[in-house]
Amino acid sequence: MLMQVAEGVLVHRSELLRNNAVVVQGRAGVLLVDPGIRGEEMACLARDLSELGRPVVAGFATHPDWDHVLWHADLGDAPRYGTARCAAYLRDLRSDPDWRARVAEGLPPEIAEEVPLDLFGLVTGLPAGTARVPWDGPRVRIVEHPAHAPGHAALLVEERGVLVAGDMLSDVLVPMLDDPGDTGYPVEDYLVGLQVLEGVADDVDVVVPGHGSVGRGARVRARIEQDRAYVRALRDGRAPDDPRIGPSVEPGWEWVRDVHAGQVRSLARRRAQDGIPG
Ligand SMILES: [Zn+2]
Repeated sequence: MLMQVAEGVLVHRSELLRNNAVVVQGRAGVLLVDPGIRGEEMACLARDLSELGRPVVAGFATHPDWDHVLWHADLGDAPRYGTARCAAYLRDLRSDPDWRARVAEGLPPEIAEEVPLDLFGLVTGLPAGTARVPWDGPRVRIVEHPAHAPGHAALLVEERGVLVAGDMLSDVLVPMLDDPGDTGYPVEDYLVGLQVLEGVADDVDVVVPGHGSVGRGARVRARIEQDRAYVRALRDGRAPDDPRIGPSVEPGWEWVRDVHAGQVRSLARRRAQDGIPG
């Protein structure tokens, strides 16, 4: 089911990871961002769009993680874009003869059978520095930034004030650091990424995270602050005071605590290697 979040911007939610696929209406059809994860839900989205008489004319993947780069044949064969670095990462992944097995290994077991991999990761890279998604519709600015994954980009639907945030600014997932990332300083990279998003926040009325619920108005900056507080706590070796990891986490989301614990361990290891005390 498609839910309108702003004029001409709709969201299709998938249950397990609360993925949000985002649909932006253009002149002849729609731009589809991060279509979803299970075959059935992508087929459902394709049906919804065809009932509305709106074919997909362009796709976009916010970053090269498996749950953002899937596609279903029923969605058609419009060009699917991503940043140059996102596309390069995926090309490299798909060049491994065992890529299917590698990707399948990382899928949540309860849905692994239902995730179609045929069209996985077939993303065309836009040249570095491309300002907007090339398509016939409202202007969609590409906001590339470090933090979560190589070539991660948020999209700003300028006239509608909607920020499609990819795996940033979620109310269910804590910041997941790209470790070691490009620079080897994942915490600093993440703070830079949040700063980049903060730099466009004046133009944002609605934030749609890759996972979780849509945030409006003051919630946009509050999410940036919440993520920054989490990352700073990680950096400083403090236990974050963060509802996404406790004490009363929503049932089914306890694993986010494991993600957090893993990040604490890996930062501790890094400090030990670099000889930084604490
Ligand atoms: Zn994700």
